[in-house]
Amino acid sequence: MRIILVGPPGAGKGTQAARLIDTLNIPHISTGDMLRAAVKAGTTLGLEAQAFMTRGDLVPDEVVIGMIIERIAAPDCSKGFMLDGFPRTAPQAAALDEAMAAAGVTLDAVLLIEVPDSLIVERITGRRSDPETGAIYHLAFNPPPAEIADRVVQRKDDTEAACVARLSKYHSETAPIVPFYEAKGLLRRVDGVGSPDAVTARIADALKG
Ligand code: AMP
Repeated sequence: MRIILVGPPGAGKGTQAARLIDTLNIPHISTGDMLRAAVKAGTTLGLEAQAFMTRGDLVPDEVVIGMIIERIAAPDCSKGFMLDGFPRTAPQAAALDEAMAAAGVTLDAVLLIEVPDSLIVERITGRRSDPETGAIYHLAFNPPPAEIADRVVQRKDDTEAACVARLSKYHSETAPIVPFYEAKGLLRRVDGVGSPDAVTARIADALKG
């Protein structure tokens, strides 16, 4: 299956992707995770992306498009993939469309996880992750277990200021790709409010329908 997860920052894309890939047995490709790994490793790409990410801006299209086109051509993507955080702009959606058409493959679904803006800042600023396992927690809604509470970290762009910038970019740059996929009959809207289990169940239903 070839699936795209779309939604505002803090919608639960990463959390849901981690659950879905276990059942669907396809690689989880998160542009945010790839870029953070590049920043950590200090590669040229990481150095180029870092300032944009810290501000809550989008990394330029040409940087992420090249990275993803190369990634989905890898052998582990031959049976499918789950894209999380890409495409995020109209040119990215067009480039993905073109690359997939050239490879003779098609998308199965675009899952849009919807969460109102009023809930996003609280979700994002309370988010923490375990650097050893990558597991995502929330200080109030899903606190990390006591034995790992000392090692969880907060993303640099999970501050309130960066979150407001990311949300604004989501509305101006990413939301416009929704009609593109809707017109292709691929869009499945999923209510992202509620427990992670409730959202996973809604996604499973949406993928059946
Ligand atoms: P995420 O982990 O998906 O929230 O992404 C974190 C940050 O990485 C974003 O705020 C952007 O700065 C950058 N980023 C991730 N994916 C993309 C993309 N498809 N296009 C541009 N920037 C991206």
